[in-house]
Amino acid sequence: MTSRRTRIYEGKAKILYEGPEPGTVIVHFKDDATAFNAQKKAVIEGKGVLNQRISEYIFTRLNDLGIPTHFLRSLNVREQLVREVEIIPLEVVVRNVAAGSLATRLGLEEGTALPRSIIEFCYKNDALGDPMVSEEHITAFGWAAPQEIDDIMHMSIRINDFLTGLFLGIGIKLIDFKIEFGRLYENDMMRIVLADEISPDSCRLWDTKTNDKMDKDRFRRDMGGLVEAYQEVAKRLGIISENEKPERARPKLVKSDT
Ligand code: UDP
Repeated sequence: MTSRRTRIYEGKAKILYEGPEPGTVIVHFKDDATAFNAQKKAVIEGKGVLNQRISEYIFTRLNDLGIPTHFLRSLNVREQLVREVEIIPLEVVVRNVAAGSLATRLGLEEGTALPRSIIEFCYKNDALGDPMVSEEHITAFGWAAPQEIDDIMHMSIRINDFLTGLFLGIGIKLIDFKIEFGRLYENDMMRIVLADEISPDSCRLWDTKTNDKMDKDRFRRDMGGLVEAYQEVAKRLGIISENEKPERARPKLVKSDT
């Protein structure tokens, strides 16, 4: 079925196909996991479906809040229809708590709360290992205009506020996350929209009570239990049902004494 479609691009975790109408693209979420600039690879069955469903949920909520995204609708459990955008070659990382590369770079203990949320930019370039860059580099090399950087920062803060509250409500701390933006061209207008995905592959999520990791660090750090952790995130968000056994959802027969 998929072979008849025109493949536009294959990345590490997703495949893009031409959409049914001009200006649309189909995103296929693969089960492939990579880390450390693709030096570490594995196939984790079920990961793609969970990421698609979690990302669908978050992008729908963001669209409802008036934060524009590329997301149109899910087509099946593994694929979604999105608007075609011109991806801005930046990874925007928002951090609330020190972890990962920030903890290493500044010698901070993982889990240290930051004085305030911090936004970082990395230049999307696998060959260079996505180096961190400043607004100076971004504007000097023309990757984004100053007004676009402003829009990206405002949207990133709104997204962080929404996600922090969403996850806190289900007993999860949002440590940090990575997002990407694109330019959406409509008639003569252009606007910046959120693109790519938001899932446990692109966020650090720690259980509020136990500090257990519920994100891709389970793969990066060989901890195991990745699918179970992503499933737990999906369950708490109410995306997949609390009890997996269908018989428990069936109505029970009630005996009558009379
Ligand atoms: N991240 C990502 N893709 C990348 C790099 C980072 O989704 O290519 C996410 C990562 O999951 C974490 C946040 O961005 O939630 C910050 O990552 P960091 O810079 O600490 O890098 P890492 O420790 O993952 O190398």
